[in-house]
Amino acid sequence: MIRLAIQKSGRLSEDSLNLIRECGISFINSSLKLKTEATNFPLEILFLRDDDIPGYVADGVADIGIVGENVLVEEGREELQVQKLGFSRCRLSIAVPKNEAFDDITALEGKNIATSYPNLLQTYLSGEGVQAHIHTISGSVEIAPSIGLADAICDIVSSGSTLISNGLREVQTVFRSEAVLIAHQNLATAKQQLLDQLLFRIDAVRKAQK
Ligand code: ATP
Ligand code: ZN
Repeated sequence: MIRLAIQKSGRLSEDSLNLIRECGISFINSSLKLKTEATNFPLEILFLRDDDIPGYVADGVADIGIVGENVLVEEGREELQVQKLGFSRCRLSIAVPKNEAFDDITALEGKNIATSYPNLLQTYLSGEGVQAHIHTISGSVEIAPSIGLADAICDIVSSGSTLISNGLREVQTVFRSEAVLIAHQNLATAKQQLLDQLLFRIDAVRKAQK
């Protein structure tokens, strides 16, 4: 039996479940249960918060997982990545108040930037040689400039409409992300064989979609 961790409820959940189903794996999914067993493949599914998934897979509590690259890299667990999955595509971008001047990234020197991704932002700023004050907040990052908490934000963007409705303008992409399959680094042979079977099916599903 191999144990897979996926997001319980959020932007990764539906496509993660769809991928498993398209692999020909059947299971009963009750929104109240935190785990379920597949009926036709030796797979157990755990439903967790996405932020907890890399840690559980690193520790071997779950054998494999599906998570956004943004969370994986933010948590410094890149080494767990096995396969990109092509869904939940989004970008992590810097945005400033829409009337604020912004010629290039040096405009952020010495400024306060609010984000839930301090490590990804710090890596980017260091690469650009810019020093800014990073304020880590866990949610509602977009309102930080309007309440005087920050001069700019760095947050996940897909369509950009949330930024616009908060009077912000996207000025720089920091990181591009999609869902990825991750795996524990020292899987037992039997589990590795199940992972290989799963990867084979995922590959077939993805080829059929192209
Ligand atoms: P949880 O309650 O599990 O902690 P969350 O609020 O942190 O959930 P979601 O907003 O559901 O997370 O996003 C989960 C992941 O989906 C993100 O880390 C990112 O990889 C991806 N994602 C976020 N926003 C979008 C979007 N607008 N479009 C596509 N993918 C997105
Ligand atoms: Zn989360």
